Amino acid sequence: MLVETTTTTSAVDASYSSTVTVKAVAPTPVAEPRYHQDFNGNYKFAPIQESIVTRAMIRRYWRDMDDAAVSDVVIVGAGSAGLSCAYTLAKADPTLKVTIIEAGVAPGGGAWLGGQLMTPMVIRKPAHTLLDELEIPYEDEGDYVVVKHAALFTSTVLSKTLLLPNVRMFNATAAEDLVIRHDKSTGSKRVGGVVTNWTLVTLNHHNQSCMDPSTVTAPVVCSFAGHDGPFGAASVKRLVSAGLVEKLGDMRALDMNMAEDSVVNNTREIFPGLIVGGMELAEFDGLPRMGPTFGAMLSSGVKAAKEALKVLESLKGRVQDGIVVA
Ligand SMILES: Cc1cc2nc3c(=O)[nH]c(=O)nc-3n(C[C@H](O)[C@H](O)[C@H](O)COP(=O)(O)OP(=O)(O)OC[C@H]3O[C@@H](n4cnc5c(N)ncnc54)[C@H](O)[C@@H]3O)c2cc1C
Repeated sequence: MLVETTTTTSAVDASYSSTVTVKAVAPTPVAEPRYHQDFNGNYKFAPIQESIVTRAMIRRYWRDMDDAAVSDVVIVGAGSAGLSCAYTLAKADPTLKVTIIEAGVAPGGGAWLGGQLMTPMVIRKPAHTLLDELEIPYEDEGDYVVVKHAALFTSTVLSKTLLLPNVRMFNATAAEDLVIRHDKSTGSKRVGGVVTNWTLVTLNHHNQSCMDPSTVTAPVVCSFAGHDGPFGAASVKRLVSAGLVEKLGDMRALDMNMAEDSVVNNTREIFPGLIVGGMELAEFDGLPRMGPTFGAMLSSGVKAAKEALKVLESLKGRVQDGIVVA
């Protein structure tokens, strides 16, 4: 702000007298900083209203749900196999809309620890190539590698997957069921998406009835729901209860050498529209378990991504709003 002041000077030379106009700049009131990063006891956050925080989440969450309601691929389960698939698929084709449905609050499945709750993660070659791609360091032991902590793998693959703009993940959300439609072009049934609900709701269907779910429609579902359990092996168990498959093979006793090759080699579209990998496939096919070696999970995810790209290619021009049309 400029302030005009008038001063009369006459002290030194009485003959000299003049009027001087001084334009003084009044100090501008210094605005309090909206935030201040001082870790010496003067840390200050930018102000906010509680309603703004709520709306910031709601708007983005609903926008994501709205957008993901029709996806190109739905991935059930964000364990080591599901995350390896999501990363490979979304990276291979950035135009694909990839939606991950994870029942747990914390994605990662059984890949936060190695065997018997120990931290190192053993991965047999050649599955270490995914570690190279993800820039995860390991100790090279010749035929196998060891990541110093399983959490280093899981946190890295998770963050690199979520950084891809074409991936959305809804955790604490269970795939309660499959969408199974009649495919007019083949005359048979095909999986066309998943039925979802908040996991806490899914867990309480026996306490409170009529809590209806919603859906994610997609021409391809990749399921990595893990071992049989309250949620595990969800997609393959549903094929059985829907009468579309006679029974599960059930995971067999441990045989590391046979198990890992078999899981990767058999990762496939087990039913039109449904690709299954990881330990859920071991339950479906009756493959041996492999113990605490994770290479099969990583490579099964990569193989499933390749299979999904093939299926999508074969459906080109036949998908409308996520539904395969004749
Ligand atoms: C009983 C048991 C035996 C094991 N045996 C072996 C073994 O022999 N070999 C071995 O390598 N590892 C074994 N493990 C360890 C470990 O579970 C697996 O190796 C590995 O984590 C499997 O990877 P995955 O991605 O297939 O499944 P998981 O890591 O189990 O991930 C599955 C994910 O899917 C989510 N999910 C499940 N159902 C749903 C649903 N309906 N909707 C949405 N999300 C869902 C789960 O929350 C989880 O995050 C075993 C674990 C258990 C509990």
